[in-house]
Amino acid sequence: MNNGKAYTGIDVFRIAAALLIIAIHTSPLSSYSETGDFILTRITGRIAVPFFFMVSGFFLISGYSRNYGKLKAFIKNTALIYGIAIAGYIPLNIYNGYFAMDNLLPNIIKDIVFDGTMYHLWYLPAAITGAAAAWLLTERLGLRKAFVIAALLYAIGLFGDSYYGIAEKLPVAEKIYACIFEISDYTRNGIFFAPVFFVLGGIIAGKAIRISLKGCIIGFAASFSLMLIEGMALHGIGIQRHDSMYIMLLPCLYFLFSALTFWRGPRLLLLKTSAMIIYIIHPMVIVVVRLLAKILGLQVLLIENSIIHYLAVSAVTISVSMLASLLYRKVKKKKPAFHKSMDRAWLELDMNNLKHNVEALSKAMPHDCELMAVVKAGAYGHGLFEVSSYVNRLGVKVFAVATIEEGIELRRFGIVGEILILGYTDPERAKELCKYNLTQTLIDFNYAVCLNSQGFNVKAHIKIDTGMHRLGFDVYETAHILEVFSLDKLKIYGIYTHLCSSDSLSEDAADFTRRQIEKFYELLELLKNNGAELPKIHIQSTYGLLNYPELKCNYIRAGVSLYGVLSTPNSETRLQLDLRPVLSLKSKIILIRKIKSGESMGYGRAFTANRDSLLAILPVGYADGFPRNLSCGNGEVIIRGCRAPTAGRICMDQLAVDITDIPGAAVGDIATLIGKDGQEELSAPEAADNSATITNELLSRMGARLKIVERQ
Ligand SMILES: *Cc1c(COP(=O)(O)O)cnc(C)c1O
Repeated sequence: MNNGKAYTGIDVFRIAAALLIIAIHTSPLSSYSETGDFILTRITGRIAVPFFFMVSGFFLISGYSRNYGKLKAFIKNTALIYGIAIAGYIPLNIYNGYFAMDNLLPNIIKDIVFDGTMYHLWYLPAAITGAAAAWLLTERLGLRKAFVIAALLYAIGLFGDSYYGIAEKLPVAEKIYACIFEISDYTRNGIFFAPVFFVLGGIIAGKAIRISLKGCIIGFAASFSLMLIEGMALHGIGIQRHDSMYIMLLPCLYFLFSALTFWRGPRLLLLKTSAMIIYIIHPMVIVVVRLLAKILGLQVLLIENSIIHYLAVSAVTISVSMLASLLYRKVKKKKPAFHKSMDRAWLELDMNNLKHNVEALSKAMPHDCELMAVVKAGAYGHGLFEVSSYVNRLGVKVFAVATIEEGIELRRFGIVGEILILGYTDPERAKELCKYNLTQTLIDFNYAVCLNSQGFNVKAHIKIDTGMHRLGFDVYETAHILEVFSLDKLKIYGIYTHLCSSDSLSEDAADFTRRQIEKFYELLELLKNNGAELPKIHIQSTYGLLNYPELKCNYIRAGVSLYGVLSTPNSETRLQLDLRPVLSLKSKIILIRKIKSGESMGYGRAFTANRDSLLAILPVGYADGFPRNLSCGNGEVIIRGCRAPTAGRICMDQLAVDITDIPGAAVGDIATLIGKDGQEELSAPEAADNSATITNELLSRMGARLKIVERQ
């Protein structure tokens, strides 16, 4: 389910960090202010490299899962990039006279292992050592203890870096550091510097500590300010040997990185690749820009003004890097990548159909009425994030969910706009309702009073029971309803009722529904006459809109229709909309079995072949949402455009279908359990009907274990 919830903020900040690193190596403010330059390049810029370490730690190490394969792949990739970079910089090394130094061999080894053969390349060996060290520590000791050890290493590093002036005064310490500096020029390396940031990334990934976005921003602002003070003070008293490591760098990055994890959205792989290339090539660009300026006689323009120099280097570096990563992506795309999400069973979402449904519903509503997208139960199994963020981008600003958790998730996804919780929330959670700006349904008078007494300002809609007798104030309870308007902590933004038989056009049902609607409007009239200022009103869900389209309300609470289906096949409705199904459920054949006539298959031997048969095994079962009621031929799937009935009982994680009549069916073939393949279509309402339920239930149980693949 995590598919679409990528860490957009982290990807974007990679570029900011890369630009800071260019700044460190070009000193953009040096023409103007030495102090300004120090603050930018020797303090602020120090955020960049640890940020990259944390990104790697975030994806490699977490409290939940440690995948040794991922670590190996990371080390292999980093080593490969390092190798290419070393080779790429050899011409520059020659130009700089690198190979003319004394004790060449030991120095080259030292550089390759610690310091880098070019001044910025130390990052790559440090990433390898840091990742391995952090991994070992967390593996042996757990995240917290690993953090303590890594922080101690960092402390040792500090006294060889920004705090060196203190260590220098102690003869023993000075000796020890002298030894360290024999091996590595700085303590800013893979042993003393990198591990703590890898572990910190892992701590955030494991959500060992939870802070709100606001908390993160305040924390960052505070620790960043303290870091500026720390840096200026150390600089002022002149004890820095180097200026990469500050005490406040740790909280600073912790808060910054945590804040960035709130910004979720699409994965921006182009930025990821570009940031890496920017990092690797910018020193080369600096040299090229200098050479070009010399050749063209543009030193005054391109070199002497530090800001213009920085901008020129950045512009060239970014352009080249973006181009290179575009090219790289093109080349990589050529070979059809194995789609990890489609290895077993998955949901495919047709986003164009979702867009079409939003438009079709919006057109069918009175023009001052707004669509409230009902995305409860993981957007009816379609993926809360995928659906909500997509329709939010289309302009839908009002959402309905069933629980406070779903509401909070929407906010974490970055959804802005109204979020109405249709169901019950414990009044004890009023603080969260307030904090996440969620709107709570008031289910009766006692509930409203209790919620009001919690002392937090909460937005609310009053629910009126006009005959369903589930949630809501009794429609005749006028005095209580009026009183709710004057409760000081509750802000009433809406009032609504729910129809319980609007899906049926039978005379009986229609009479009942009309009475429900009348009672609701009578109540509104009464409230108005008693001086209440009417908030937004809403009555209809999907069938309410389709069968009573003439009602003038502020919202339509569209659920099942948003997903392009109705609750039952052949639903008769007064208004007929062109709705298009969004979801398909797919799997693939992993095994084909030959069964002789008379042999049986599966639990309880419920399938016995009455002819020599071919059975295909699909790795999908009722735990994925495909109902067990569809066993033994009650349900079908589509393979190669033909229907194949289920054979035997559907298991939790597997099922079998009879493919004897499908010529050529082979292992690897896609099986469509819900959706279209060629001319055949198996709709969700049909599958629901065959399993004796309605589409809503079938869909809402879908997906908990399935990957989601979006198609445009
Ligand atoms: C689920 C729900 C809806 C959406 O119903 P659909 O029939 O799926 O459109 C609307 N209102 C309430 C109160 C609901 O609980």
